[in-house]
Amino acid sequence: MSGENQVRVAVVKCRNYEQDLVDRQVDRCLQLMGGLSRYVKKGDRVLLKVNLLSPEPPEKAITTHPAVVAALIKRVQALGAHPVVGDSSGGLIVGRSRTHRSFIKSGIKEVADRLGAETVNFDTAGVVAVDNPRGVKPRQLHIAKPVLDADVVITVPKLKTHSAALFTGAVKNMYGTVPGALKMEYHRLAPRPADFTRILLDIFQVTKPHLAVMDGIMTMEGNGPAAGSPKHLGLILASSDSVALDAVACHIIGLNPERVSTLQQAAERNLGQACLAKIQVVGTDIAELPVGDFKLPSNALLERVPSFIGSYLLGMLRARPVIQKDKCTGCRICVDNCPAGAIRFADRPLVDYRTCIDCLCCHELCPQRAFILTPRSAAARRLVKLLEKRKRHS
Ligand code: SF4
Ligand code: SF4
Repeated sequence: MSGENQVRVAVVKCRNYEQDLVDRQVDRCLQLMGGLSRYVKKGDRVLLKVNLLSPEPPEKAITTHPAVVAALIKRVQALGAHPVVGDSSGGLIVGRSRTHRSFIKSGIKEVADRLGAETVNFDTAGVVAVDNPRGVKPRQLHIAKPVLDADVVITVPKLKTHSAALFTGAVKNMYGTVPGALKMEYHRLAPRPADFTRILLDIFQVTKPHLAVMDGIMTMEGNGPAAGSPKHLGLILASSDSVALDAVACHIIGLNPERVSTLQQAAERNLGQACLAKIQVVGTDIAELPVGDFKLPSNALLERVPSFIGSYLLGMLRARPVIQKDKCTGCRICVDNCPAGAIRFADRPLVDYRTCIDCLCCHELCPQRAFILTPRSAAARRLVKLLEKRKRHS
């Protein structure tokens, strides 16, 4: 992975979130990408698109860590530009978005205020309808106005596994540029995973970041993006190519980027480079990087099923959400945010699996982590156990 004309991804080690260390290592990462001044000019309005999935503290490793955001704010300010930190959280509580609480709980509001940077809640900052670049339905995409008003967009994701998409990083982070409940609408319009990926990439295409800086210090493994477990990786990554950055991050956690359909479709659409052989990794020796014991999401096992098994059986194997009654507090977030209207509330939420589109939003948004993921049939569950056993042996 070397060569002058290759897409470049910078990877530097950063063992913890001590602010001085993060400042130095973010700076080093940016230097390896030619310096932030290559992307940002004096007077620019620079949007830092963070990951504020839900109102959770930094130690849960669900949101971008405030130390990484602080380091970027300071770098942008040092160039005489104006940093703006923004996102829209997933889910509503009785019609109200959770973004404001996410800003506070994540610690990002506090660092932004202290450093004099603006914060914008995409749910309330205006929305612009943009023509879908593919010219198909949905004909228009609704994007938060501050994203389109920015001179420079920097995506600042958290490295996490994802129960539905297998991986979430720089590319998927841009889905948060869709304000509030409109996110559910796109799930409703595209119930099949492949169709949803196409819309996700339409959104990525119209909001394409100039730069990506990934928080890979404490990451998430297992059934992310919210219900997995924090995992120390100790890395910061940067690239002007979000697809390449995600591909390298996948490689590091032992997930073949060829298995991540978001990255493969993005590469097919020339939105970035997903082929590791064509990516130059700088800053750290790529041979040192892969982490063998990173837990992948339940659905990652589907990739081990031979193709002759067919799509019907694959559908049976796909994980579905099951509620653990003892953990549920009855908050109804899952009911209010199910794009298919597949959850009704009696004395507790009940999922109608005939209507469920397997988007796993309920699993992602439940604050009590009351949903577990399990294959649809007993036979499929047995097959998954067998695959898990084979995976452990191999
Ligand atoms: S399952 Fe989770 S999101 Fe749904 S009502 Fe119970 S606690 Fe709330
Ligand atoms: S029940 Fe859960 S996985 Fe099924 S459609 Fe609703 S939110 Fe998506």
